[in-house]
Amino acid sequence: MIKPPKDLPLADIIPDEPLLLMGAGPVPIPNVVSQANGVVINHLGDTMNQVIDRVKLMAAYTFQTKSEKILGISGPASAAMEMAITNLIWPGRKILVLKMGTFSGRFAEMAAAVGGDVTILENKEFLPFTKEEVEIELNKKDYDVITITQGETSCGLKNIHLKEIAALAHSKNVLSIVDAVCTLSTMELAMDDWKLDVVVTGGQKGLSSIPGVSLIAFSEQAWEVIQRREVPCPHWCLDAKRAHGFWQDKKYHYTAPVPGILALHEALRLICQESLEERFERHLSSSKALQKGVESMGLELFIPEEYRLNSVLAIKLPVGIDSHKLIDHMVKAYYVEISGAFGLDIIRIGQMGQQCRPQNIIRALYALGMSFKLFGKNLDLAAGMAALEQ
Ligand SMILES: *Cc1c(COP(=O)(O)O)cnc(C)c1O
Repeated sequence: MIKPPKDLPLADIIPDEPLLLMGAGPVPIPNVVSQANGVVINHLGDTMNQVIDRVKLMAAYTFQTKSEKILGISGPASAAMEMAITNLIWPGRKILVLKMGTFSGRFAEMAAAVGGDVTILENKEFLPFTKEEVEIELNKKDYDVITITQGETSCGLKNIHLKEIAALAHSKNVLSIVDAVCTLSTMELAMDDWKLDVVVTGGQKGLSSIPGVSLIAFSEQAWEVIQRREVPCPHWCLDAKRAHGFWQDKKYHYTAPVPGILALHEALRLICQESLEERFERHLSSSKALQKGVESMGLELFIPEEYRLNSVLAIKLPVGIDSHKLIDHMVKAYYVEISGAFGLDIIRIGQMGQQCRPQNIIRALYALGMSFKLFGKNLDLAAGMAALEQ
C-alpha cells in the first residue's frame, strides 16, 4: 500500500498574519463574506431557494438589469465567459473578438474550441477600441456575436467606448458579450440601458467575494437565441438551459457551490447597502489618490489617464528592477502582495472592492516605495505619501 504523506498542516505554509492582497485578484473579503463562506446548507430546499432568489435580485441591481436570466456558475470567471461563448456560438456562427490583452483574447480561444468562425480585432498599442474601428469590421461580415472587455486587467486598460460599441452592435443585430470581471461594481455599467446582451463577472474582483463562484446575465434577445439553438450545448455543466433549471425553477442540475453562493449573497448585500453610486465614487477617489501617490513618488503609470482603469493600476517597472524580487520583498517585509504581469514590464496594484480602503492603499503605497528603495530605485516616498493623503 502507498503510505500517507507525513502530517501537512496548512499553518506550515500560510503566513501567521494574513497577507494584504493588493494584486489583480483575488481581493480581501469582508468578514461577513468570509463567515458565510464557512456555512454549508442543503443545495436544494426552502432556505437555498430563498438564497437564490435574493442573489438574483441583488445581482440584477449590480448588473443594472431587469432580466430574469441571471445564473450563478460553479467556476472561475473564465467559466462564466465560457458559458456565454458555448451557449451562443456553435459551428458556423460568426464572432468578432476585440482583443486588448490576455483576458479579452481568451474569448477567441473559447469560441474556436466550439467551432465558431472567429475574427480577432487586435489592438497591440494598449489603446481602447473606437466605434469607427469596430464599425469597419462589423460591416465586413454578418457577425452573430461580438465580445467586449470593459477593463483589460492584464495591462490596466479601460475600454472607454464600450457603451457606443455595444449600441452599434445592437443596431446591427449582433449580440454583445461583455466581460465585466474586474469592473463590475467598481465603475458604471448599465446592462439594460447600454443594451448589453450578456454580462459576465467573477467573485474575486470587484464584488469582493471568493474566487470560484461567478455570475452571468443574459438579455431576452440572447436567451431567445439559446432557446432556438438546435446544436446541443457541448458542455453539460455550462449549459445555460440546464443551469436555468436550477437558478429559476430550483431543480437539480449539479450540486451548487453552496458556501460560495452564501458568500456571494453577503458580498452583493454589501454592494446594495453601499449603493452603486457610492461604490463607484469610492473606487474613483481611491484610485485617483493612489495614482497621484505613485506618480509623486517618481514612478510612471503605464496607461494614459484617459483610458486608465481605476480597478487595476499598472505601473511601469523602472529599468534594472526585478519585479519578482520586489514583490517577494513586499510580501516578506510588509505582508502586502501585489501582481506582476503576463510578459509586460509592469507591476499591478488592484483597486477592487475591499482593496479600495484608505488603510489598505496607504500600506500598499508605503510597502511599494520602501521596497523600491531597497532595490536601489531612488524614490521620494514622502512626496508620494503626502500626495496620497491629499
Ligand atoms: C480575472 C479576470 C478574468 C478571469 O477570471 P478567473 O476567475 O481567473 O477565470 C477574466 N477577465 C477579466 C477582465 C479578469 O480581470
